[in-house]
Amino acid sequence: MKIKSATFVVSNSEVSKCPNTRIPEYAFIGRSNVGKSSLINMLTNRKSLAKTSGRPGKTQLINHFLINENWHLVDLPGYGYARVSKKDKKYFQKFITDYFEQREQMISAFVLVDCRHEPQKIDMEFMEYMGEKEIPFSIIFTKADKLRPQALERNIEEYKRIMLEGVWWEFPNYFVSSSSDGTGQDEILNYIEEINSN
Ligand code: GDP
Repeated sequence: MKIKSATFVVSNSEVSKCPNTRIPEYAFIGRSNVGKSSLINMLTNRKSLAKTSGRPGKTQLINHFLINENWHLVDLPGYGYARVSKKDKKYFQKFITDYFEQREQMISAFVLVDCRHEPQKIDMEFMEYMGEKEIPFSIIFTKADKLRPQALERNIEEYKRIMLEGVWWEFPNYFVSSSSDGTGQDEILNYIEEINSN
């Protein structure tokens, strides 16, 4: 897919206020600093469509961007646990789970993980949550330029091992990306185009 246009639409803190259209959308999510803003800018060939972080405590918003006038790219905030109950039970922020459970336009999500790090508990739990709710997603291993190919492969194998030993029957669809050298751009955009055309 060629990017012909990419424009910011709106930011919301609640799913009920997200654009009231039938435009299909694809959501990007991951822990803060995983490289999500850089990836969105790389995918859309824009320098600063999504604001790169660096400032902690960034407002937690659902950001909609309209791409090629026919799909929404949705930039979700970094997930974290919200400790809400007396028993210290942990949940993901409500507006994130509301988004995934209520947003009918959401076709497929991308869960970003830093390819250098071993599987983190919160990422595993978030993907398990997505699996339980049957929300389609792919993994994107970001910052691939920071590892040699062998080390990258080893880390992905480690993810596979841990997930398949856990609750997963099969390893989710995945991509490898680098915002520094453009790795993954064609693959991710073509994947979206393919789903969108069906
Ligand atoms: P966000 O918090 O997930 O939106 O992360 P950012 O996109 O702001 O990136 C966090 C940091 O990682 C910044 O210093 C980026 O320059 C750096 N970064 C992001 N993506 C890449 C990448 O693909 N390669 C390299 N080498 N650095 C990256």
